[in-house]
Amino acid sequence: MANIQRRLPENVPGDFFVDASCIDCDTCSQLAPSVFHDHGEQCSVYHQPETDAETRLALMSLVACPTGSIGTTGKHDAHIGIDAFPSLVAENVYFCGFTSESSFGAWSYLIVRPESEGGNLLIDSPRFATQLVRRISELGGVKKMLLTHQDDIADHKLFRKKFDCERVMHADDGAAGLGVERIIEGEEAIRVEEEVLVIPTPGHTRGHLVFLYKNKFLFTGDHLAWSATRETLTAFPSVAWYSWTRQTESMANLLNYEFEWVLPGHGYQHHDTKQNMRYHLQSCVAWMKTRG
Ligand code: SF4
Repeated sequence: MANIQRRLPENVPGDFFVDASCIDCDTCSQLAPSVFHDHGEQCSVYHQPETDAETRLALMSLVACPTGSIGTTGKHDAHIGIDAFPSLVAENVYFCGFTSESSFGAWSYLIVRPESEGGNLLIDSPRFATQLVRRISELGGVKKMLLTHQDDIADHKLFRKKFDCERVMHADDGAAGLGVERIIEGEEAIRVEEEVLVIPTPGHTRGHLVFLYKNKFLFTGDHLAWSATRETLTAFPSVAWYSWTRQTESMANLLNYEFEWVLPGHGYQHHDTKQNMRYHLQSCVAWMKTRG
């Protein structure tokens, strides 16, 4: 719950505000870019919502914020933000909202499929929030949890306990110690289902994985994201915990695959043609080589 006494001075006057507990995960500035921005080491409100659409996105940000740092001075129907999640990205792919502080506000995704097609897939872990869990239950629960890497696993144990789902994770990110059911080893891509390819991408962490669904949606964890400032695909050298050189090699390996969506844990999503995505990926690899 945001505290008005700790309202950041960078907020413009008005209803919505961010308080000093903000950890600068950028969820709000990505979800409601016309309301929130990153003013340096934290986010704040630079423009108060004026339309119903802006208010809805601001309330969704309030719900998605991992630290409860967004507040309002006026009264709002909380369900406008809560019931918006999971929020449709495209086709049967949803953004879960309800990010977790333990994964620094990383975004997680739900793929909704009937039981006959293998059931639902949860990519990385959102906060185990009652309202979200109830909604996921209504949508059919979770059959598999695909965990990109050790930083974004948040409440995976609670989801496993609730839904009895099989978790998939790489051995080199500590999968055995976490009790993960399906442990990926080595650096070869593995098809865990007809429509789901697991691609090891060591670099950010040693056991980082990305997941390619339907040769269309690439769930990239902390490996790859869209840069809104450079307007191309990018990676994050300052958080290449394992090896930037290895991450650059892993990125080049992704040129062997086709996809139209990049859906990261941190950073911006991007949708484009396969051809344009390949162009941006080549640019990203070239840029990464200059940063080595
Ligand atoms: S979502 Fe919350 S923690 Fe993240 S940048 Fe916004 S106010 Fe800060």
